[in-house]
Amino acid sequence: MTADLVDSFGRIVRDLRIAVTDRCNFRCTYCMPAEGLQWLPREEILSFEEIERIAALLVRRYGVEGIRLTGGEPTVRAHLPVLVEKLAALGVDLSMTTNGTSLRLLAADLRAAGLRRVNVSLDTLHRERFSEMTRRDELDRVLDGIDAAVEAGFSPVKVNVVIERGVNDGEVLDLAVFGRERGVEIRFIEFMPLDAQGEWDRSKVLSQDEIVATIGASFPIERMPARGAAPADRWRYLDGGGTIGVIPTVTHAFCGDCDRVRITADGQFRTCLFAVDEIDLRAAVRRGDDDEAIARLIEDAVAAKWAGHQINQVNFVRPTRSMSQIGG
Ligand code: SAM
Ligand code: SF4
Repeated sequence: MTADLVDSFGRIVRDLRIAVTDRCNFRCTYCMPAEGLQWLPREEILSFEEIERIAALLVRRYGVEGIRLTGGEPTVRAHLPVLVEKLAALGVDLSMTTNGTSLRLLAADLRAAGLRRVNVSLDTLHRERFSEMTRRDELDRVLDGIDAAVEAGFSPVKVNVVIERGVNDGEVLDLAVFGRERGVEIRFIEFMPLDAQGEWDRSKVLSQDEIVATIGASFPIERMPARGAAPADRWRYLDGGGTIGVIPTVTHAFCGDCDRVRITADGQFRTCLFAVDEIDLRAAVRRGDDDEAIARLIEDAVAAKWAGHQINQVNFVRPTRSMSQIGG
């Protein structure tokens, strides 16, 4: 028997994001500074057993149905398929968000271990711009990683694209065409104020409406039925060319439907990407708290979940941690 984990606004938690590391082989400009971001010491990172314990509690006790592995770059965590196997055994919809660089190497093992879906991040199809945006000259490896994911049988494979006005906003249509040709769903993500450098500015956000208008001007598209708790709004091409998604965090906040909680690589429980408070589950696990005590911490944190982020309000407070540290 599971009991719903419900916040004070009646939203039920069904989805868990786990950052398995804060480390990354890229340094995307909208996420991390070129240098100077200190990695967490290894002993501060949750072990696979600690991750499994917390995840199992959320799944078995509260009916969490989906788990997404993220980071940092999840594939830089050694022996990732071992963790995947442990979490897949919980019977959840297990997915991962990755920069794609290790998929040629790991896709088959991850699939065999029980990973069901992958999202690969790719913001540009131009080699120079890719090098500027990620500070790494790895476009070919990422493109090959997307192919490797499709070949390994992941379905669907989705491609996450963060659009930053003045940087890659001229590529919306080309990326949409890339998705049509490769048979992958492109998910455009509005640029969020979670860059470590604090350079986000509202004027750099290309809105969902602008993205959809750009694609719609070249391809007839229609909006698909409401997304429920999923963060993306979706459209389908009327000619059968597939679907696109847009995650409009800034211009059409979807906080009212949020069903998600997060665990950072160092075991901090967060009820929102933009939360300013965290609950230290790592401390609870390491001091030997039993499941009842940990469950109480989780329930209290969820009960206190706020109505939503206030990016568009003057009183918005940026989280002190960046996207890579929280787990995007
Ligand atoms: N390293 C993996 C990757 O890049 O896919 C997983 C972690 S990354 C933080 C997760 C997602 O967050 C990626 O799709 C990335 O593009 C997105 N992201 C990072 N910083 C962002 C920002 N400031 N605004 C919007 N999305 C961002
Ligand atoms: Fe690394 Fe992903 Fe952040 Fe890029 S977006 S720096 S790949 S964690």
